[in-house]
Amino acid sequence: MTYETIIGLEVHAQLLTASKIFCSCSTKFGASPNGNSCPVCLALPGVLPVLNKKVVEYAIRAGLATGCTIAKKSVFARKNYFYPDLPKGYQISQYELPICIGGKIDIAVNGEKKTIGLTRIHLEEDAGKLLHEHPTTRSKGASWVDLNRAGVPLIEIVSEPDLRSAEEAVAYLKTLRAILIYLEICDGNMEEGSLRCDANVSIRPVGEKKFGTRVEIKNMNSFRHIENAIHHEVRRQEEVLKEGGRVIQETRLWDSEKEITISMRSKEEANDYRYFPDPDLLPLLIDDSWINAVHQNLPELPEAKKARFMSQHQLSEIDAETLTSSKSLADYYEACVKIYGDAKKISNWILTELLRELNNSGEPIEQCKVKPDGLSGLLQLIDQGKISGKMAKAVFLDMVKTGESAKDLVAKQGLSQVSDASTLEPIIDKIIIANPNEAERYRQGNEKLIAFFVGQVMKETQGKGNPALVNEILKRKLKP
Ligand SMILES: [Zn+2]
Repeated sequence: MTYETIIGLEVHAQLLTASKIFCSCSTKFGASPNGNSCPVCLALPGVLPVLNKKVVEYAIRAGLATGCTIAKKSVFARKNYFYPDLPKGYQISQYELPICIGGKIDIAVNGEKKTIGLTRIHLEEDAGKLLHEHPTTRSKGASWVDLNRAGVPLIEIVSEPDLRSAEEAVAYLKTLRAILIYLEICDGNMEEGSLRCDANVSIRPVGEKKFGTRVEIKNMNSFRHIENAIHHEVRRQEEVLKEGGRVIQETRLWDSEKEITISMRSKEEANDYRYFPDPDLLPLLIDDSWINAVHQNLPELPEAKKARFMSQHQLSEIDAETLTSSKSLADYYEACVKIYGDAKKISNWILTELLRELNNSGEPIEQCKVKPDGLSGLLQLIDQGKISGKMAKAVFLDMVKTGESAKDLVAKQGLSQVSDASTLEPIIDKIIIANPNEAERYRQGNEKLIAFFVGQVMKETQGKGNPALVNEILKRKLKP
């Protein structure tokens, strides 16, 4: 029997507001444990939450960018459960009435386009963190509670079960991540946990309409983990069914070292949480003028930027796609175009030389030592005939290492191209005299031999001869 895979993703994105969702504590990462806390996020008795307006604006931004309907009225609810990182005994979330409804995200896998529906986007607060090792003494044997993350604002983006493979799930998450980063509402850092993804995975016999029992997988903090975890989980479920068993509804954790999923707990149902509207918070009312104001200030999104790069800079779809896959790369490209002008030449350099170096070092473009003015300066030296394209590639590698300008490196290494006929002519004369047979054959019509002579001149000048000029002088002197 062959099976079809059904996947839905729940993505939690930490919002980049300066303060928490219901108090004025900082959201900054890396503060000393419990340094960012106050009576509200510590859940001391008698405190009242006050909603951060910026959080709502960011959620509206996310909703508008993904085609959701923004609810005029949404309600915060208490999701009740006990865990030591949640001192209130409940998480403030949204349940029956979320802030964004519906929506969609377009993805492409191997050139095939597909639209993935969104069920909803809702607002909630993050929980604290348990440390199973003391943060300074590193002693073990107890757990410590750090509530710096408690109350950090989150949006949860819930997809429809429209994804049919691990590859589609990864493409969806990459697209969603790019949108959130373009919107400047989330930094998208999966390793630090500011973007987290849980996957609901089930399988069913091909042709069957009813969904199979789903398993939720947690603890995947990279695209590779997500792909591997889903592949593994699908195989596991297939084996269970083939052996005549049935899949149990549960939550499983991905163990990236052993590359397996491990059962964590039987999956809870919504009614286990005893959701009810939070009596401390008024319903959230959003009027059209607010939605319109947010809409007008939406930045250009990846799809629109890609289309613009294709029409404005005459780039191919695949080049435009790569350049807009990250906002910082697109910004870098546009800064170069502004300084240098030739949009096509710049894109070639970025897509080949620059991306190769970034891949090798694993560094994000923000940390690259070659800034847009540096790369533009290098290309200008080629245009001015000071260095050849080949020399420029070597200079570029040194720029990546040292951060020095192309001009300084060329001067320091004495790399300047020889573009002066009076220097080149005696060298060329000498080479023609030293190779009489080749010169004779060239004169009798074997024009391919020009490459031999150019090679000899380049050897003699250590690659510094201006290729166009060398060609021109050679042809003139070799003329029958
Ligand atoms: Zn606080």
